[in-house]
Amino acid sequence: MDNYGAAVERIEVVTGDITKMTVDVIVNAANNSLLGGGGVDGAIHRAAGHGLLTECEGLGGCPTGQAKITGAYELPAKAVIHTVGPVWQGGDNREADLLAACYRNSLQLAVDAGHSSIAFPAISCGVYGYPQGPASRVAVTTIADELRHLGQISRVLLVAYDDSMASLYRRELARLTH
Ligand code: ADP
Repeated sequence: MDNYGAAVERIEVVTGDITKMTVDVIVNAANNSLLGGGGVDGAIHRAAGHGLLTECEGLGGCPTGQAKITGAYELPAKAVIHTVGPVWQGGDNREADLLAACYRNSLQLAVDAGHSSIAFPAISCGVYGYPQGPASRVAVTTIADELRHLGQISRVLLVAYDDSMASLYRRELARLTH
């Protein structure tokens, strides 16, 4: 857990609606079908328009922990990466590994597609019930770790939908640099 300084400087915490973010890629906390749902998934599909659903219908779903990329249609972003977080089942069912895999695989896909800025929602922290504290720790440590070798990614936004999530993200970032 050393040498995170330069990586942490590329991570920003913002509060708001991820569909409004002007970054190359926004990440969707999707479900295994990739056919839309509630929460951030519903908001992204509504803001992107029907073209997104049509493209997602051709993807054949996505396993938990993995990620797939599509166009962004009417969104200000250039692409959407759909990743499927784990449903919280108490913590002993590989939830942390699967959540970390969502962040890692999404960052790798963004790099493979030539992008350099990306916004994440709090994957699994809504309907999927992952507690915010542990989820914020997995998100921040995984992203910071990946950024050390993904030089192409210059900016990562952690988009909190409420102030408690934003302060948890800030606490985890501070922990890595002290
Ligand atoms: P999951 O099924 O992975 O739990 P949810 O969409 O239910 O996904 O929730 C994930 C997180 O996204 C929650 O913290 C929720 O408050 C947040 N969220 C919901 N809508 C938006 C939005 N428009 N922009 C950013 N975050 C959002």
